[in-house]
Amino acid sequence: MKVKVVTKILEANDRIAEENRKRFQDAGVYVINLMGAPGAGKTTLLERTISALKKDLRIGVIEGDIVGADDAERIGALNVPVVQINTGGACHLDANMISEVLGHLPLRELDLLIIENVGNLVCPAEFKVGEDMKAMVLSITEGHDKPLKYPLMFRESSALVLNKTDLLPYMNTDMNKVRNDSLTLNRGLQIFEVSCANGQGIDSWTTWLSGLRS
Ligand code: MG
Ligand code: ZN
Repeated sequence: MKVKVVTKILEANDRIAEENRKRFQDAGVYVINLMGAPGAGKTTLLERTISALKKDLRIGVIEGDIVGADDAERIGALNVPVVQINTGGACHLDANMISEVLGHLPLRELDLLIIENVGNLVCPAEFKVGEDMKAMVLSITEGHDKPLKYPLMFRESSALVLNKTDLLPYMNTDMNKVRNDSLTLNRGLQIFEVSCANGQGIDSWTTWLSGLRS
């Protein structure tokens, strides 16, 4: 019985996600659902990404957090359109939450919309919101066991950004294990190693991103 209820919730979500997707396609905007644990560096990666790409691409952002507008304020400081969603306790964004805020964004004037999901390695991967692709950020400080412990997120993502590589000298993280386990789960996964603190590796990520739309 419980399984049936969950299935129905996901089916209803997928229908709304499909409507969102049509709106995105009509507006000609490419949409990325950015996921990762709290503190992985999702917002900092967004700041780096926007700074690198905003001269070539018109970028908008939806920020998802349980409470607060700190992330939207950081993104707004870069002079791009941003909307903050507060889920009020829910640990992921769903298609309906996205649908409700789309009227607050100039979709037709955007090339790229990045949706920063609630910090969580589990259920954001289960909910489509109408995106073209999912991507995830994993901080190397989270440990090399994460791909095998949270496989769905690695399977659902098209890109994996391994952040905080500047801290590698202080960590025992086995990067080969992270890479190999991630690719075992998802053979087509694009992996980027970056430091949002010093900017290393950001180039290859942003070059790949800008190539997606063409
Ligand atoms: Mg954030
Ligand atoms: Zn959740």
